[in-house]
Amino acid sequence: MRQLLPEAYIHNMQSMLGPDAERFLESYDAPRAYGLRLNPLKYTSNKELLSILEKQFRLEPIPWCSTGFYYDESTSPGKHPYYAAGLYYIQEPSAMTSAELLDPQPGEVILDLAAAPGGKTTQIAGKMAGQGVLVANEIHPARAQILSENVERAGIANAIVTNAPPDELSRRFPSMFDRIMLDAPCSGEGMFRKDEGAIAEWSESHVVMCAARQADILDHAAIMLKPGGRLVYSTCTFNRAENENTIEAFCQRHPQFSVVQTERVWPHISRGEGHFVAVLSKAGEVPDTVSAGNNARVHESDGARLGGRRRTQAGAPGRPSASLAADMALLRGFTDATLPGGIALGPGEPLRFGDALYWLPHTIGGGPIQAGDLTGLKVARPGLHLGDVRKNRIEPAHALALSVHADAAAWVQTYRPEAPEIAAFLRGETLPAEEGSAGWGLVAVDGLPLGWGKASGGQIKNHLPKGLRRFK
Ligand code: SAM
Repeated sequence: MRQLLPEAYIHNMQSMLGPDAERFLESYDAPRAYGLRLNPLKYTSNKELLSILEKQFRLEPIPWCSTGFYYDESTSPGKHPYYAAGLYYIQEPSAMTSAELLDPQPGEVILDLAAAPGGKTTQIAGKMAGQGVLVANEIHPARAQILSENVERAGIANAIVTNAPPDELSRRFPSMFDRIMLDAPCSGEGMFRKDEGAIAEWSESHVVMCAARQADILDHAAIMLKPGGRLVYSTCTFNRAENENTIEAFCQRHPQFSVVQTERVWPHISRGEGHFVAVLSKAGEVPDTVSAGNNARVHESDGARLGGRRRTQAGAPGRPSASLAADMALLRGFTDATLPGGIALGPGEPLRFGDALYWLPHTIGGGPIQAGDLTGLKVARPGLHLGDVRKNRIEPAHALALSVHADAAAWVQTYRPEAPEIAAFLRGETLPAEEGSAGWGLVAVDGLPLGWGKASGGQIKNHLPKGLRRFK
């Protein structure tokens, strides 16, 4: 593979690394490392499950990420039913560094500004533990859709997925975020081993173009960060123009920012591809939500608990309109019958997009993003998709199935991963109903929901969305 590298690139790396360049260049012919990250929203230090996963995928811990593991490529965890259940995310090991350094806290308001396909977003959401508000933005519509699917599969209830250019977000949301992750579009030198296509795209003028674009996106991030907030900038490229120089020039343009730390991950030193991370802080008071997030836990009265014993809807700002209240009443009817264990929605407000009913997340204190703030913005997922409103009933959303615990449901048919019923369900086929299954319920793998089924006449009708069905 080394012979595919552009001459100018090799020359740049030699002048940057000096005598180490040879070892660096040799790493292109070494095998690459594969990583997955467990999803804390689905996995709660279940030692038994971890030992199953360790054996199944031959896991070894990744030193810089407590939920990250190397896996043996031949075990293909991306094809396993646990993947469809959102138990883990497949992520290049070095790429796990930047969200660790962002250090997200439950209860905060966080922006992932260049978020697709969702590696950092799912990692940040795991650390937020469902509390606070996460805005995951992606500029390209098709990639925003992939991001949205990954948010859904991970069972993230407190994310708003937007599809906007950074300048539009900075006009709407100045000084709004406690932390911002900017995993910037870059020339991708660190991905050459993983993706040969990145080699063909590389040129010195592309590096210059990337650096100019990064400066522009960073300037918008600066506007959106609260005083006292933390900004993490990362790239998967090696050259200084897109890394140290970009950060230095940024701090000169924005003297209220200072560099807390920078890190480089090198493929000839660590087991992973190349990565650069800079942690920056913005001068000023530490924002309120940081301390609120550290000390507070979501109480039922801060949100809405549907089904189960309590049915309050305190904490939503103002009263929802009569039609939204009627939608929520339909949802309550659904959850009473189908999720008797109840679903605990965090603070937030109901929101309709066409027929789709969402729960827009808020912080404990309310806001900072209200339904009205989204008007005119391209939004792929304005919070947790609860269901679609049909005439006098609710059709539950796939996102709802993936965000609840299976034991909350009136019935669950759960199978081992290798059971033929799991493959059949993932292909979209009907399953035989077990005794006690009637109406809506969940089909699960080892107790992790895969999707909704509707039992009638001895059969479970499959409600896995058509786009997610697997035929291999
Ligand atoms: N953070 C992602 C993850 O962990 O999965 C990877 C992000 S990738 C390195 C950079 C993203 O920036 C791409 O999805 C790309 O579409 C997006 N992007 C491209 N141009 C952009 C721009 N001008 N402003 C914001 N994002 C942009």
